Amino acid sequence: MAKNLVEVNNIKKYFPIHKGLLNRVVGNVKAVDDVSLTIREGETFGLVGESGCGKSTLGRVILRLQSATEGSVKINGRDVHSLSNRELNKMREEMQIIFQDPFGSLNPRFLVKDVIGEPLKIHTKMSAKEIDNRVVELMNLVGLDPTRRNRYPHEFSGGQRQRIGIARAIALKPKFIVADEAVSALDVSVQSQVINLLMKLQKEMGLTFLFIAHGLNVVRHISDRVGVMYLGKMVEVGETESLYANPLHPYTAALLSAIPKPSPTKKRNRIVLQGDVPSPANPPSGCRFHTRCPFASEKCSKVEPKLQEVMPGRQVACHFPIGVEGGSDLSKLNR
Ligand code: SF4
Repeated sequence: MAKNLVEVNNIKKYFPIHKGLLNRVVGNVKAVDDVSLTIREGETFGLVGESGCGKSTLGRVILRLQSATEGSVKINGRDVHSLSNRELNKMREEMQIIFQDPFGSLNPRFLVKDVIGEPLKIHTKMSAKEIDNRVVELMNLVGLDPTRRNRYPHEFSGGQRQRIGIARAIALKPKFIVADEAVSALDVSVQSQVINLLMKLQKEMGLTFLFIAHGLNVVRHISDRVGVMYLGKMVEVGETESLYANPLHPYTAALLSAIPKPSPTKKRNRIVLQGDVPSPANPPSGCRFHTRCPFASEKCSKVEPKLQEVMPGRQVACHFPIGVEGGSDLSKLNR
């Protein structure tokens, strides 16, 4: 089995809430609350959850684009959050990010060749000619016409702009890429083109991905394993096919039930969650999902379930996992 490239241990990211004339801290938004995960070399780990669950914050903390309140992140054995600025700058060559909004993340005043070539200019001693050659190579690699490198990002379509973002992210031949909602803003047909491109590059370059999306349907094709987050907590982790076939956590089951079936004649047993996602500034006691869970019992509101392995390759944070002896039974739900 491949070694772990990314090791996230008990990461917390709290944002203080200030109030009053003295700007006192009166509480914290617990965006990420004690999350651990590992990503193996060459693997794609899909991370999903509703908006505001902390998945993007976790991605940024892993890359140290944001500091951690507690916990550690190791990439290739090095503790990212204890590196000096100089060491971090060097390490940035190995870890990159692709953003959701390709237009917002590309400098509109830069020509495409400058957008893609900028990391090479900053991190390498390549000459202008060498950078131009590499830009041509990168544009070919991501399926863009290199003769258009003297144009501006706004002259490209949404899908093409995302390809520009990808070319920029792989310019320094990184080991690890966080794709943060990288296809969420694209049409469905363009989404699959970009996902196929990422898979092709992964094969050719041996990349490791953390692929963040809000829907389980988007991550299935690309992910080897999937993690599901709810209100700052990881609630389930598993091998992709096993998790989609048999979700253990009621929240995962609800997300899966919301994916439309390919055939309109097929019955869709949708689990409709009650209420809204509670505030991460004041999360519910015990299991954070108990206010919306159709299987919640008294224990759920009092005792926080820990993420633990209940079968090989499957972890869940639930007192009554679905399909496990003594656990929840989906067929007993009134639909
Ligand atoms: Fe539902 Fe209880 Fe499991 Fe939480 S611990 S997901 S409330 S059954």
